[in-house]
Amino acid sequence: MITVQGLTKVYGPTRAVDNLTFTVRPGIVTGFLGPNGAGKSTTMRMILGLDNPTSGVATVNGVPYVQLQDPLRQVGGLLDAKWVHPNRSARSHLRWMAASNGIPARRVDEVLAMVGLSSVAGKRAGQFSLGMSQRLGIAGALLGDPGVLLFDEPVNGLDPEGIVWARNFIRALAAQGRTVLVSSHLLSEMALTADHLVVIGQGRLIADATVDQITSSARRSVRARSPQLQALSDAVQRAGFQTRIEPGPEPVLVVDDAESAPIGEIAAKNSITLHELSSKQASLEEAFMAMTAGSVEYQGGAAAVPAGMPGGMR
Ligand code: ADP
Repeated sequence: MITVQGLTKVYGPTRAVDNLTFTVRPGIVTGFLGPNGAGKSTTMRMILGLDNPTSGVATVNGVPYVQLQDPLRQVGGLLDAKWVHPNRSARSHLRWMAASNGIPARRVDEVLAMVGLSSVAGKRAGQFSLGMSQRLGIAGALLGDPGVLLFDEPVNGLDPEGIVWARNFIRALAAQGRTVLVSSHLLSEMALTADHLVVIGQGRLIADATVDQITSSARRSVRARSPQLQALSDAVQRAGFQTRIEPGPEPVLVVDDAESAPIGEIAAKNSITLHELSSKQASLEEAFMAMTAGSVEYQGGAAAVPAGMPGGMR
């Protein structure tokens, strides 16, 4: 169990973490979600005793990290996959960690096998790809077989196969009854991995709810095509809805926060012909953007995209 209460971290003028309170329960995966710069890593560092809170408290199994007996056997963390001596092999890196924490050397080969690195255990860690480094970091977190695990953006740098592996692996760790907190800036990825989500923006709590609650809160909108589009827009507005017309060869009327039935009825009452009426739920990413809008540290509009950058890269 992880408990965060009134946790705050101030760096000069920046409130990196601002009065955060939440609990991470065992047996499920809790996703820790927020745009880049939201304060996820800072929160995780404070839970792992690597940073001191300005105020508030973070506990693991009821006590602050520094008071844990045998900390590696109680909590494991992957914060920075590249935190490894480049000239040490994967095996000697883990052996050094194990030896300094009174963990038997045979555990090293066990965790290397668990993360699929046995065949490259003797290779210098400095030559590892980011994906292999992530696996090594996960192996390090598991050395003490802890009941509480924190992974900061563990799928960064993994190929699609690696992402599926990490997702299943993390879910299996939670199914064993462990407490698992996983951070990400991607809601779509977290929706597949996590059961519960803690969403933050600019250091503050935005949502603490199940994945289902958050994804079903995504707004629905209605799209309509009609040869009398302006008349339809006027009638729908008179009924109290907000509308906009998306221009194009076949302009479309979009009504946010609406279901299709009342819009169809408004059209019928006003004898307006419809060529199309459909309703759409906002995508997870749209829901996430709406939730965290205003809390993104550096909001870049189209003008902020360097010239020559393909649209797909934005
Ligand atoms: P996230 O992990 O969600 O991307 P971080 O916790 O890394 O966010 O950062 C939160 C905020 O704190 C950012 O504005 C970041 O620039 C700032 N920050 C993080 N670490 C430091 C530090 N050591 N010194 C100064 N500012 C920091």
